[in-house]
This record gives sequence, C-alpha cells and structure tokens, in this order.
Amino acid sequence: MKEFCGLFGVFNHEKASELTYLGLYALQHRGQEGAGIVVSNGHDMDSRKGMGSVATVFNKDVVSRLRGHIAIGHVRYSTTGSSHAINVQPLKFERGKESIVLAHNGNLINTGILRKELESVGVNFQTTSDSEIILKLISKPSVEDRINAINECLKKIKGAYSLLIMYKDAIVGLRDPNGFRPLCIGKLNGAYVITSESCALDLIEAEFVRDVEPGEIVLIDENGIESFYPFDEKVKKSFCIFEYIYFARPDSDISNMNVHEVRKCLGRRLANEYPVEVDNVIAVPDSGNSAALGYAEESKTPFEIGIVRNHYIGRTFIQPIQEIRDFDVKVKLNPIKKLVKGRRLVVVDDSIVRGTTTKARVNTLKKAGAKEIHLRISCPPIRYPCYYGIDFPTREELIAANHTLAEIKEILNVDSLGYLSLEGMIGSVSGNGNQFCTACFTGKYPVSLKDYGLGRVSQERGLSKKP
Ligand code: AMP
Repeated sequence: MKEFCGLFGVFNHEKASELTYLGLYALQHRGQEGAGIVVSNGHDMDSRKGMGSVATVFNKDVVSRLRGHIAIGHVRYSTTGSSHAINVQPLKFERGKESIVLAHNGNLINTGILRKELESVGVNFQTTSDSEIILKLISKPSVEDRINAINECLKKIKGAYSLLIMYKDAIVGLRDPNGFRPLCIGKLNGAYVITSESCALDLIEAEFVRDVEPGEIVLIDENGIESFYPFDEKVKKSFCIFEYIYFARPDSDISNMNVHEVRKCLGRRLANEYPVEVDNVIAVPDSGNSAALGYAEESKTPFEIGIVRNHYIGRTFIQPIQEIRDFDVKVKLNPIKKLVKGRRLVVVDDSIVRGTTTKARVNTLKKAGAKEIHLRISCPPIRYPCYYGIDFPTREELIAANHTLAEIKEILNVDSLGYLSLEGMIGSVSGNGNQFCTACFTGKYPVSLKDYGLGRVSQERGLSKKP
C-alpha cells in the first residue's frame, strides 16, 4: 500500500484545532481521501476523522468543539483497496494511561514481515495501514520512555516515513534517515508548528524556522524543543525529487529551495535540451505551469494560457478507480479554442505516468484545432514503481517502462516528444545527484528492496534518448 499524505501539528496554541484545520486546508493537494485532527488539552484527547476533503470532514462547529492547545492533523490519499474510513489518520492507541497518536507520510517497505512478527506475539491490527505497525511498535508496553520506544521502533522500520506522534502533553516529529518526505518546523508567537510543507505555515502566518533533518527526532513539549539523532551510520540523504517535480505546492520551500523556482529551472533546461520553433508555449495546468514559464522564458517564445482548468474537482489521480480517470480529464481541462486553433504549440507538463490522461489532453487540443503539438515533459521517463510513498502503478502500467520514446510519441499522437534528461533534472535541484531519490527514473532504490519481496524488475528495453 502506498500513501500520499500531509501532516500538520501545533503545540501550545489555544486555537490548535483551528490552526490545524487551516494547515490541512493548505495541504489538501497531498491527499483528498480522508482527513483527521486529534487535539489534546494536556489531559484528555478528542478527535474527528472522516473520508473526503478537509471541507467535507470539518465545519466550524466541529472544529470549535475540538478544544485543546496541542493538535495534529493528517490528510490522506491511498491506492485502491485501502480506501476505508478505518485507515483515516491520525491513528490512536491507548497504552495504560498513555494515549499515543500517529500521523504518517510515506511508505514502509518491510510491512509484511513486521506485521507477521507482531501478530505472532498477539498484537491485533484494526487497520490495513502500514502506519499502524509504527503505532504498535512505539506503544510497546515494555519500553516506558517515549524517545527510547521510538528509537526501538526506528531500528525495525524500513522505508519512507515522516511522522508526527502526539502524546497528551507533547508532539514528536521525525524523518527517516534518508529524508524521503518533507517536514518542517515553524513558530507562531509562542507556539510551535510542524508540517509537511511551508505553504501551510504561510496560511496561518507562522514563521518558517527550518526543515527537520533526515534522521532527526524533534521533541516539542513544555520545555521547548529538543532534537535526538538515533541513527549512527551516515545514511545517504535521498529526498524524493518527485516532490519538486509534481507533488509539493509551488509556493512551498523545501531544503531552502522554492518549488516553483525549481520547476522553472526544469523548464529552462528542457528548452535547451529540446528546442523547437513554435508560436506559443502552453502549460497543462496546474502541474505544468511553472516549468512552462521557464521553457517560454528560455526559448523566448510567448507563453499563453491555452488550457483552462476547472479547480472545483479533485486531482485526476486522486480518484482511485481507473474508470473515473478519463472522465476527470474531460471535466477538468478545457482548451481556449481561439488561442489553440491553427497554432504550433509546445505543451509542457511535469510528468507522464500511464499516458492515459496525456493522450486524452492531446486529443482535446487536436480537436480544438492545434496545428502542431510538441510535448515537453519536465522530468525523465518514469520507468520504475515507487515504494516510498508516491502512487506510481506497477511497471506493467508505466508507459515508459514498456515503450520506446518513439512508440510513446506515436501512442500520444504528438509531433514531437521531449523528456528532460536525468542530468538536467538533477542539475535543476542542486547539481548533486546523491541528495535525491531518483528511483522512479533509474530503478536505483536507496533503501534496498530485495529482502522484502519488492522491486522484481523485468528486463530493461533499449530506449533511445531523442524523440
Ligand atoms: P498520465 O498521462 O495518465 O500518465 O497522467 C499524467 C498526469 O498525471 C501528469 O499531468 C501528472 O502531473 C499527473 N501525475 C503526476 N504524478 C502522478 C501519480 N503519481 N499518479 C497519477 N498521475 C500523476
């Protein structure tokens, strides 16, 4: 099971639940399938969770009834099969007098083994989520001290996890040693905020303090904030590069880089790698906007709004059922026919996964009378599944895992196709390839999959670079 998710927590604010609600609103792009908030007044906890978007689950009354100065919240999206109310987070566990609440962004890769191990010693699971394994491990009755219990758990779990753990009187935030998923700290007057993306801090006017470091545990309680570094060996950092390409919001800063600026840089490099003489550069909104601006600037070609997006529906891939996907393409994007008709266009999008929606979009532009369509993608071909929290399908479904670029060009029915090179992509983020997980492009998984029955990769096909 894979999870996209957004995390938000507040410590020491009388409007903790209101702030968490707003924070989740800002993180809605990270998951629209479920949302939840748990609040504590130092002694008792209260919670509200449900299926659907933040606006569906919460209203003013519900939020104002959640009283307390400590809160954590979660927005969630999961793949087919696990889309149940029971899996909506934060998850809560009672251990004697202690209540432990967990919100998880990421994906463990040794879930099967750990679950069996725990079940064999009598642990029961209420959900099908890998996050419950973490919750059960940190709630082990034998380890009293909270940080020790977390340390014990971290020795066992493998994969991607940014976590918020809430106790009646404290919040713990942490990132796995690779730092696959983001997590940052903010301050609002005397309160601490901890969240997946800085755009959530902006909404509540909290000040950005810093990112939580990969492998760092941050304990926030009445004594302030304290850090622990439980991992001995120096693990190579591997932040998910796809957060920059597609997943994070463009107004967020991650590792001191603004996501929109990174995307513009991807677009500029794409223009240099795949120039073509056209009338206009247009974006597939919203995912291609920033890269299209970069492409237009670099190629000195006028940027135009060729397609308008209906914002009042979820992201296409948020619907877990394939049948709805094509319908979404139609309801979501509409070309401005006058601006498209008879024009030679560069169309920029951030990525191609299955190719289904891209094909439908190209068809719509063709129907609107586009003379030429030169598709430019601001990342390399996605050829490998993600086991660390991004919902890419199996290798069989990934168009670039099964077709050459020439074939993809034919399937999508475009005049030319250019994917940004791996070097171009990495160069846009830092110039240092070691800092990022690029497994979906390269098949090189930073946390080994071989012991967990994952990543059986079929024979690579010879793929040519140029379209
Ligand atoms: P498709 O042509 O069906 O592969 O869809 C490509 C579109 O899906 C692009 O506009 C991407 O922005 C978007 N997308 C990005 N990541 C994902 C994902 N993990 N799952 C599904 N679609 C995604």
